[in-house]
Amino acid sequence: MFDSFVSRVKSFLSTQEEDVAVREPRIIPKSVHGIDPELVAWQAKRCCEALQRRGYRAYIVGGAVRDLLLGVKPKDFDVATDATPEEVKRSQRRAIIIGRRFRLVHVIFGDEVIECSTFRALEGAGVRKDGAGRVISDNVFGEMWEDAARRDFTINALYYDPATEEVYDYHHGFEDIAKKRLRMIGDPEARYREDPVRMLRAVRISAKLDFTIDPKTEKPIARMAGLLRNVPTARLVDEAIKLLSCGHAVECVKRLKRDGLSAALLPVLNNLLSSPEGEDFLMLALKRTDERLAIGKKISPFFLFGTLLWPQVLRRWRYNEETKGMPRVAALHEASVDVLETECHTISIQRRFQADMHDLWMMQVKLERRTGKSAYAAVRHPRYRAGYDFLLLRSQAGEVPEWLPEWWDEFANAEDAAREQMIREAQEEARRTGSQARRGRGSREERTEVECVPQHELAAAEGNDSEGSNASGTGERRRRRRPRRRSRRPAQREGQSE
Ligand code: ATP
Ligand code: MG
Repeated sequence: MFDSFVSRVKSFLSTQEEDVAVREPRIIPKSVHGIDPELVAWQAKRCCEALQRRGYRAYIVGGAVRDLLLGVKPKDFDVATDATPEEVKRSQRRAIIIGRRFRLVHVIFGDEVIECSTFRALEGAGVRKDGAGRVISDNVFGEMWEDAARRDFTINALYYDPATEEVYDYHHGFEDIAKKRLRMIGDPEARYREDPVRMLRAVRISAKLDFTIDPKTEKPIARMAGLLRNVPTARLVDEAIKLLSCGHAVECVKRLKRDGLSAALLPVLNNLLSSPEGEDFLMLALKRTDERLAIGKKISPFFLFGTLLWPQVLRRWRYNEETKGMPRVAALHEASVDVLETECHTISIQRRFQADMHDLWMMQVKLERRTGKSAYAAVRHPRYRAGYDFLLLRSQAGEVPEWLPEWWDEFANAEDAAREQMIREAQEEARRTGSQARRGRGSREERTEVECVPQHELAAAEGNDSEGSNASGTGERRRRRRPRRRSRRPAQREGQSE
């Protein structure tokens, strides 16, 4: 597929003039680009048609065209037009205008949203920059060629007209796709200064597509990495989520580390990378994340952040238990709340993810216990799948024995009678090894096996005990609140796996 694309590009270029003025796009016919119209979402086509019927220009643009040229089904579609946001809104059945820094229109078709933006001007009275040269607001509309010049990389500045099936190329993006090369439009340094997030985008897009970064585009990154400190945290967190869930997280994180971008992106990432155990755990987790995405499974942000912060939770959990003498469940609960309080403040993780992260971590202590009613409750818990996946990761990291996730896998899929038998055996084993352990606390692995967490402790840490009871039962005076839970969401949002 890609080879035939390359040969079409070569024969096309040999018949065209190389040096096309930037204001005049190279128009690439269907016979040359070979985009399969079946890969184009009908919603994007309909959005363009509605605008074109009213006499406006409208094109699919950005990453979607890049992916279409690579023969990949795009994950989302953006449309660029010469209609103003108000005109776009009027031309569509359901649309809302959003954003302040850049006003855009979300055109809504059920679950699918097409992001529709008006061509932006290159420079103008409406562009406001901060002291470091970063663009902080701009809503001045311009020509199509200006809009192309404002985009980050040449391969992201291609426009596809679904009606004529032609591709408009201003900056040799078509050629760069064939050469598997990521090249910044304009002067890379100036473009990074305008928006430092472009450095992260260079890393993510090149890793995802397996493209090389053009030397002139790559060279300034290591030197300019510090500029990311001027970027609002919420935007960095969004970019971090995109980066870690692009399916090539291992490669991205290696490149971030090499270019010194990890420290500015997320301090927690850098903390992990600064110790060999932290880095091993992170890379193992990211490898699994990439593998899941490769087979079409989803990754939730709470799971990603739950993984990034787990080494800290684990350290505090052990400290609370071993040094402060707290019972196991209360020790984990306290560690979880502490980490969420400190880290969520610095990396501004949305509140709705915090309750899920807390559940994911608390699930670990439930899964280490295989006895009594709690085993049945665990598999019915809405976070069971996520908790199980996390347990699997911990077993690969050598934190819990390998047989533990295997036991849960068998238990979850067993009939009632077999489950009862498994519980009886686990209880028996716990009694046997428990008496040995009481005679001398064993290794961490042995403790996991024998751990028998009293039901009231689990209930207290879950927050469903009577209000006044003390979760730890150790005379801990300070009562810690668990993160506030939002209302229950539909089943498909639950869990990590499906
Ligand atoms: P993805 O596959 O992750 O969606 P994408 O290139 O489509 O990659 P989006 O964030 O969806 O990324 O952006 C859509 C388009 O908007 C880009 O292709 C690019 O043309 C433009 N764009 C996005 N971010 C920037 C930026 N920081 N600077 C300049 N142009 C940008
Ligand atoms: Mg996109």
